[in-house]
Amino acid sequence: MGNAKDGQAFIPSTEKKRIIIAGGGFGGLKLARRLTGKNYQVVLIDRHNYHQFQPLLYQVATAGLEPSSISFPLRKIFQNKPDLHFRMTSLLKIDPAGKKIVTDIGLMKYDFLVLAMGVNTNFLGIDSIEKNTIPMKTVSESIYLRNKILMNFEKALNLSGNEDIDPLLNYVIVGGGPTGVELAGALAEMKKYVLPKDYPELDSSRMQIHLLEAAPQLLSGMSDKSAKVAQHYLEDLGVDIRFKAFVTGYDGNRISIKDSDPLESKTVIWAAGVKGEKISGLPEDSFDKLRRVKVDQYNRLPAFPDIFAIGDMASMVTKDYPKGHPQLAQVAIQQGIHLSKNLKRMANGHTPEIFRYKHKGSLATVGRKLAVADLPGIRLKGFSAWFVWLVVHIMQLVGIKNRFFVFMNWWWNYVLYSQSLRLLIRPKLFRYQEKISE
Ligand SMILES: Cc1cc2nc3c(=O)[nH]c(=O)nc-3n(C[C@H](O)[C@H](O)[C@H](O)COP(=O)(O)OP(=O)(O)OC[C@H]3O[C@@H](n4cnc5c(N)ncnc54)[C@H](O)[C@@H]3O)c2cc1C
Repeated sequence: MGNAKDGQAFIPSTEKKRIIIAGGGFGGLKLARRLTGKNYQVVLIDRHNYHQFQPLLYQVATAGLEPSSISFPLRKIFQNKPDLHFRMTSLLKIDPAGKKIVTDIGLMKYDFLVLAMGVNTNFLGIDSIEKNTIPMKTVSESIYLRNKILMNFEKALNLSGNEDIDPLLNYVIVGGGPTGVELAGALAEMKKYVLPKDYPELDSSRMQIHLLEAAPQLLSGMSDKSAKVAQHYLEDLGVDIRFKAFVTGYDGNRISIKDSDPLESKTVIWAAGVKGEKISGLPEDSFDKLRRVKVDQYNRLPAFPDIFAIGDMASMVTKDYPKGHPQLAQVAIQQGIHLSKNLKRMANGHTPEIFRYKHKGSLATVGRKLAVADLPGIRLKGFSAWFVWLVVHIMQLVGIKNRFFVFMNWWWNYVLYSQSLRLLIRPKLFRYQEKISE
């Protein structure tokens, strides 16, 4: 494939077939690492220059880990990978007929295109929620939340006795999936172990954590027993859990809940679901109800055999998964590995094989030494589940340095109940500047 000039992004010319992978998350990164430069030229694009480990975003948000511990520069990963080219850019549009994509650095031609761009927060189409709540899908959003939490404490301390500090110390989390549960647990531990030490003049009992869930129980993807155990752990930590709570709006101060009294809070975290983003250039019938891209069992778009989708953004309906696979890191990783094998098979003239997901279990942690785990053939809770959670997350992190620092951080926290990461660092031109300085 040559390198034309007009409007094209610069990528070295090659005689090999070119695979463009859009998205360096769990799926795209695994795929790119597994493809050798022998058969294909690989171009990886991502809107960030780093891979982010989303399962630990909540720890950054609650000052348990540094952002750099869960982010890894993509260029460093591919330093010695022949004929793999990383470009920091966003995919804007696909032209399937012309076999090219439009990005903000120019056009790129492909022989095969792999969509691995994940999904985004689903605000349910409610403007006030999208405008005023804090999502948790990226490292920058979790840094914003960390700053907001720390700023709330500083502001509460400086209010005179007459003013109401409760809205500043009321935290509302919407969504009782793993993210909501883990965040509620981490905030409750902050209240218990950090607030009394860092802010002895503040009455820490006034910090309230509310977890709102529309379903009648937490952790819908896990067993009923594990969900109940997680609920008890949270209640013991003082979290107010409300089921069948449908949030209808939030104006920045007051959160409205259907058939219930509103709550006053300056900080509402939205962890109530995700959906795919619109991709220009693909016909409307390429998407399912949650805007996931429909794929066959080879991760291929039925109408475009040279375009694949993997991970969160792919909807592969099978007998075992009639609604598509769960949106988990393991699914994205396994699909990345499987597609790398299929692409190699195709390069050698063999037919591709269908994808079969092997579920390795589900985990959720509530706090220090508290977690639940549904593993094949065994259910764990308490310390043993927490230990499994710890090992699994450390092993999945990219980079030995990150694994070491996360392990040391957790060990330090485990022994001393305290971190020293509560820094309020705010860049001058931060995306959420007006929110921070409100
Ligand atoms: C807070 C949180 C906690 C989670 N906890 C767990 C957990 O405990 N266990 C678990 O298994 N799963 C967990 N998940 C889900 C898990 O993170 C996802 O299933 C996984 O990240 C999906 O991988 P992916 O490769 O499909 O997409 P992602 O990992 O989301 O990667 C997508 C990549 O595409 C890039 N991108 C997006 N749009 C564009 C564009 N237009 N152009 C260029 N690049 C683009 C993004 O920058 C990103 O790097 C959690 C998710 C969140 C948000």
